[in-house]
Amino acid sequence: RADAIETDAVIVGAGPVGLFQVFELGLLEIKAHIIDSLAYPGGQCIELYPDKPIYDIPAVPMCTGKELTDNLLKQIEPFGAGFHLGQEVTVVQKREDGRFFVETSKGTQFLTRTVFVAGGVGSFQPRTLKVDGVEKYEGSQVHYRVKSPEQFAGKNLLIIGGGDSALDWALNFCAANADGNPHKAESVILVHRRDGFRAAPASVAKMKELCDAMEMQFIVGQATGIEEADGQLSGVKITGNDGITRIVPCDQVLAFFGLSPKLGPIADWGLALERKQIVVDTEKFETSVPGIFAVGDVNTYPGKKKLILSGFHECALAAFGAAPYVFPEKRIHLQYTTTSPKLHKVLGVE
Ligand code: FAD
Repeated sequence: RADAIETDAVIVGAGPVGLFQVFELGLLEIKAHIIDSLAYPGGQCIELYPDKPIYDIPAVPMCTGKELTDNLLKQIEPFGAGFHLGQEVTVVQKREDGRFFVETSKGTQFLTRTVFVAGGVGSFQPRTLKVDGVEKYEGSQVHYRVKSPEQFAGKNLLIIGGGDSALDWALNFCAANADGNPHKAESVILVHRRDGFRAAPASVAKMKELCDAMEMQFIVGQATGIEEADGQLSGVKITGNDGITRIVPCDQVLAFFGLSPKLGPIADWGLALERKQIVVDTEKFETSVPGIFAVGDVNTYPGKKKLILSGFHECALAAFGAAPYVFPEKRIHLQYTTTSPKLHKVLGVE
């Protein structure tokens, strides 16, 4: 544990509420690191509705999910929180010295005085292919995200899905991109359950052009089984809308069905839960484990409403609740950002 990052606070989840938690902690001079399983901050606002307007943020008559996230990121800039994205918090353990040991799926470790769970509806995980026997090939021949594109060079690829990820990767790996494309596949077959796509129209048009030029193939249908040979996956059974099942041979399968949230490891940290939500008090938003707080959609208390507005309020009170763990000797006073020279200093607006 020698290289664990030592900090005052670890925030699990970089949705709008986790981001604002950085701000409220920063005003009290509590240093924070923030972690999200997604590769970008913003939580549901970015994952589910980046371009939709939100009308109930106080004093902001209208902003989109993306604008809210961008503004929160700007607002918390002065506090220089450490961002650790694309990794899920898997372990939270209380130690004998009162601090918490926190570890992520990428092996990043922290020793922290307080933990703020802002995990929303859970960490977003790729939806998987629901076909018998597929699990044992996940990571070797079946993939839900592209970690290293070079792995697919020169291979016969079956790409399943109708959104931007499926189309972008199909075009990327397609033979027609051969000019200097180091990841060119041997062949690309795209499979989608219907001849209509959620992906950008320009990508769909390009895909159709490539199909006409016989550079790739598009099949309407759904994966219903796999074929195996010599302990390897050798093909996928695709059932078309005509009810006929065809075997499509391939070396590698890439399935992009979007992301779905799962409470995941949060359920294993010994916190009192009620219907998959973390029980907190409404004075400090502290959980059943002293030093661990829960804010935003992930918590529950009498009268809870899952609104961004409520989450922001919870962040302020949780920060005050956490201060005695970080500064046991210090008396914390409420100060106004308009008039406090001390807050101007921490905000860098002197
Ligand atoms: P989330 O936004 O869910 O973020 C939680 C983050 O935690 C996620 O990014 C997740 O990946 C991460 N996470 C979870 N577990 C882990 C883990 N173990 N390790 C690492 N990361 C983890 N609210 C309003 O107030 N006004 C509106 O107009 C409004 N419109 C909405 C429209 C839609 C379509 C939807 C779906 C929701 C809307 N909401 C609205 C609700 C609002 O989006 C949520 O209340 C808000 O996103 C909650 O923020 P959060 O930070 O608590 O959680």
